[in-house]
Amino acid sequence: MKKSYLMTPGPTPVPEDIRSEMAKPMIHHRTKEYQAIFKDATEGLRKIFKTKGDLFTFTSSGTGAMEASIVNVLSPGDKIIVVRGGKFGERFGDIAKAYGVNVVNIDVEWGSAPSPVQVKEVLKANPDAKGVYTTLCETSTATVFDIKAIGEVVRSTNALFVVDTISGLGADDFLNDEWGVDIAICGSQKGLMIPPGLAFCTVSEKAWKAVETSKLPKFYFNFKKYKKAYIDTDTPFTSAITLVIGLKKAVETINGKGVDNVIAEHQSQAKAFREAAKAIGLSVFSKSPSSAVTGVNTPEGMDADLLIKLLKTEYGVTFAGGQESLKGKIFRCAHMGGIDREHTLESIKALEEALLKMGWKCKACAGFDAAKKIIG
Ligand SMILES: *Cc1c(COP(=O)(O)O)cnc(C)c1O
Repeated sequence: MKKSYLMTPGPTPVPEDIRSEMAKPMIHHRTKEYQAIFKDATEGLRKIFKTKGDLFTFTSSGTGAMEASIVNVLSPGDKIIVVRGGKFGERFGDIAKAYGVNVVNIDVEWGSAPSPVQVKEVLKANPDAKGVYTTLCETSTATVFDIKAIGEVVRSTNALFVVDTISGLGADDFLNDEWGVDIAICGSQKGLMIPPGLAFCTVSEKAWKAVETSKLPKFYFNFKKYKKAYIDTDTPFTSAITLVIGLKKAVETINGKGVDNVIAEHQSQAKAFREAAKAIGLSVFSKSPSSAVTGVNTPEGMDADLLIKLLKTEYGVTFAGGQESLKGKIFRCAHMGGIDREHTLESIKALEEALLKMGWKCKACAGFDAAKKIIG
């Protein structure tokens, strides 16, 4: 069978050893055996977030945890600041509006990172804002935001600092406690190397104070239920047992190498991919490129979606396209999770061949050679 390479920014490839763990016979969740697995998985994941605070696991895709970060700490009519630099920043605003929360947007040009100074000014103009909601890696534009610097601005105010790390965790640097993050959100299908279906929230002491006064309706995602269940047993509702078993294995793999070493590996792959793109004569879309995913501009007159189709059908390499205004204009290649050196080099090789087929002129193997210099 021809090899295939899943290079999309979620879902990402699930390594063989994690898949075999998840293939074992089903066990019941209200047992000592499962509860030990669940607690090991949670402890391991705390190390990846770099938090000593609470960490909850929900059965949902990542967006469920985004919703949790709103319904648990806000009340109807509250005001929040949302940094919008792409599709996922927009989602925070959409969820807030659905719950009757007022949103002050900080609009950032797609492909740029927000300026911490601007966040400071908007906070000053809105001293009643209950939270600043932003993203570590804005996956739609493959852009990493300076969470540390924004955290310094938010820390001294009454606002909570909420960060969507769904695609960035494990590829871009992230220090939950040191950077003053009150709620960090993640999902299972990106840097954590397991299938979609789990979502996570870290919760700081400052966030717990807001939980006490929050009046928005909530049931399934109620932090208090998860806190009580974690202390007594595991999760308030049936755990996604199979995924948690996979999570335990995945966090063991990541912590076995050391999360900083894992991030460094993804940073080199991202750098190799960017250098390859430049050597081929293409340009990187983002002004603040993430190590989780790279967006590349396609040449004038070439439809990115046709290139993606050719790569998939002829070479077994799956890239993602651009979203909304970027549709047809960029392609995105991920570097997170189970995506390794071989995936990166093979996809660069395929990209070069596909581009040649589509009439793009460049020196044979220019991209592959440039990448090899970095991750050879
Ligand atoms: C993938 C992604 C999401 C959406 O997660 P779902 O699992 O599809 O709900 C949200 N935010 C970011 C930054 C993402 O990359």
